[in-house]
Amino acid sequence: MHDKWLEDKGIKHKNFAVVTWSNWDCRVMLESECRFKRIRKPPYFNRWINLKVPFQEVYGGVRCNLKDAVQLAGLTWEGRAHCGLDDARNTARLLALLMHRGFKFSITNSLVWQQPAPQAITCQPSPSPDRSPDLTLLQQHKAKEMLGPHLHAHPYAGKAAGQVCFCGAPSRPNTVRKPGPMQGRHFYGCGNWTVTRRAICTFFAWAS
Ligand SMILES: [Zn+2]
Repeated sequence: MHDKWLEDKGIKHKNFAVVTWSNWDCRVMLESECRFKRIRKPPYFNRWINLKVPFQEVYGGVRCNLKDAVQLAGLTWEGRAHCGLDDARNTARLLALLMHRGFKFSITNSLVWQQPAPQAITCQPSPSPDRSPDLTLLQQHKAKEMLGPHLHAHPYAGKAAGQVCFCGAPSRPNTVRKPGPMQGRHFYGCGNWTVTRRAICTFFAWAS
């Protein structure tokens, strides 16, 4: 239904992003519910903008729930808190407010794929030929959230040259400067890396 709505609105084949408050919806809930109900989850749900991240950037690192965030931004909360539809509407209003202020958004989190294991069995075929449908690992924006109970993070993303990072930008070549056994090795990281902002996503792959 949602997919058809995107199609009808002419959004589906454009550059768009799913926006959530917290990572729970896309990282845990939607994934497990789709598996449980054997629904093929469209791939655009595998990367999203957690509005908490830009909100904290704009409001000096303040941590609060969605309702407090909406009110802190000067908006009036509409509807019932934790009601899915009302939460979504209020998230959208907060997003619109930050957009009006000229905030530049980028993807904050994604689910990523490993190279296919030969015997991998899946009930969730991926339409993208360069990605394995075997959804076994997870990369997150924040290291402290990295290890979930049933998914594991993995620092190697395979052959990196020409790959895009999880934000969708061409991955950025770099060299390990830290003294140690890895010093001088080349790797690829987030394409949106800047000195001030650092990496936006956790993409990492050795160059060889
Ligand atoms: Zn990136």
